[in-house]
Amino acid sequence: MSKYDVVVCGGGIVGLSCALALARQRVNVCLLGPRKKPMANLGEQYHPRVYAISSASQLFLQELGVWSSIPAERIVPVESMEIHGDRDGMVVLDAWQAAQAELAWIMESGEIEQALFQAVQIFGVPWIDDKMQSYSPGQVVTEKGKTVQADLFIGADGARSPLRKAAALAHEAKPYGDTGLVLQLTTEKPHLNTAIQWFRPNGILAFLPLPDTRDGHQVSMVWSLRDEQAKVLQAMDPEQLAIELPRKLDEITQGRLGKVSVRSPLYGFPLTLEKAKMTAPGIALVGDAAHRVHPLAGQGLNLGLVDARVLCHILAQKEPFRSFGDLRVLERYQTERAEAILAMRLATDGLHKLFASPSSGPLAFLRNAGMDVVQRLPFVKQRLIAAASGL
Ligand SMILES: Cc1cc2nc3c(=O)[nH]c(=O)nc-3n(C[C@H](O)[C@H](O)[C@H](O)COP(=O)(O)OP(=O)(O)OC[C@H]3O[C@@H](n4cnc5c(N)ncnc54)[C@H](O)[C@@H]3O)c2cc1C
Repeated sequence: MSKYDVVVCGGGIVGLSCALALARQRVNVCLLGPRKKPMANLGEQYHPRVYAISSASQLFLQELGVWSSIPAERIVPVESMEIHGDRDGMVVLDAWQAAQAELAWIMESGEIEQALFQAVQIFGVPWIDDKMQSYSPGQVVTEKGKTVQADLFIGADGARSPLRKAAALAHEAKPYGDTGLVLQLTTEKPHLNTAIQWFRPNGILAFLPLPDTRDGHQVSMVWSLRDEQAKVLQAMDPEQLAIELPRKLDEITQGRLGKVSVRSPLYGFPLTLEKAKMTAPGIALVGDAAHRVHPLAGQGLNLGLVDARVLCHILAQKEPFRSFGDLRVLERYQTERAEAILAMRLATDGLHKLFASPSSGPLAFLRNAGMDVVQRLPFVKQRLIAAASGL
């Protein structure tokens, strides 16, 4: 039987960050989860999962000492965002309007995982390559039958969080009935470090800038689409998809980046709005285990990284007579995160609802007129940029 101060269940980006932050604070921490070597340094291929990393997340990765290990040639700074409504409404946010060099950074999941994976090894964080199976206060038993004890178990085990379920923490989930489709495209025109998004009643399409390849300019497509329509695309064979997808995208983008062609397989993720009680004696949830939002603002991972930073900071500040699993300490974490998580939930869900209504009628007029008003108000734009930065 092993005993630690803290066990982090889950070796995704949020779990790795938590374990690394605690190891840097000299906490006796252990990782528990499947130990998969990250898919990184893929050359001309790009990892299917691509993230828009906010300034707050970038600062945290810098504090952890891993930002500089992510290869600079695989990171694209977003200098501008272009958001199109379903009529003529449009908002353009430029980094310079908020006196910033960039609004966010686009990078592959595998590159962040690789940097964190190496760092937890360098810090000698013990890693039990197994899965949490059952929980009772103060201990878990893994699938391979190992008993692990700790004062605090951090659930960083994703949206289905086996730890959350085993500890019976309250949880609500609402399926959007949308699937997030992702793949990479080659584009005829350069993206000029601009992230472009189109809101349509049946879905939200985003082109995120990626590094150029030998085939030409490259973007990552993130298209949240009604499940029925997504299934049609997912059922296509690669040859059919290569013809049909560019045609459908062209109808929406009106050739904004010229001719586009498919350069990777298509992946789909079911989209849900979820929230859980984030703490109980001896337990704290972080990342998707604690909350899930619509990816239209690209903020899910960013929320999880800030959870990790705040939780580790609060644990570092705890009174010496309190244990890591003391509910008084953990409630400080829940209180500090509540407002930002609620705000992101309301903003993303509200925008989704606003654009999910029919493309004619007063609401359609208002949402597009609203975008035009925002476009003319520099002060409002600065507030939007600050919110997206998470600072
Ligand atoms: C289409 C789409 C696009 C997105 N784009 C963005 C974006 O641009 N920016 C952004 O910030 N966010 C984005 N998100 C959200 C982001 O993907 C998630 O918020 C993020 O991946 C959550 O990370 P996590 O570490 O909490 O969970 P996960 O990445 O799900 O990691 C969970 C870990 O737990 C492990 N695990 C599972 N079961 C057990 C067990 N029993 N015991 C131990 N370990 C276990 C798993 O193996 C895994 O390693 C997007 C989401 C979607 C669907």
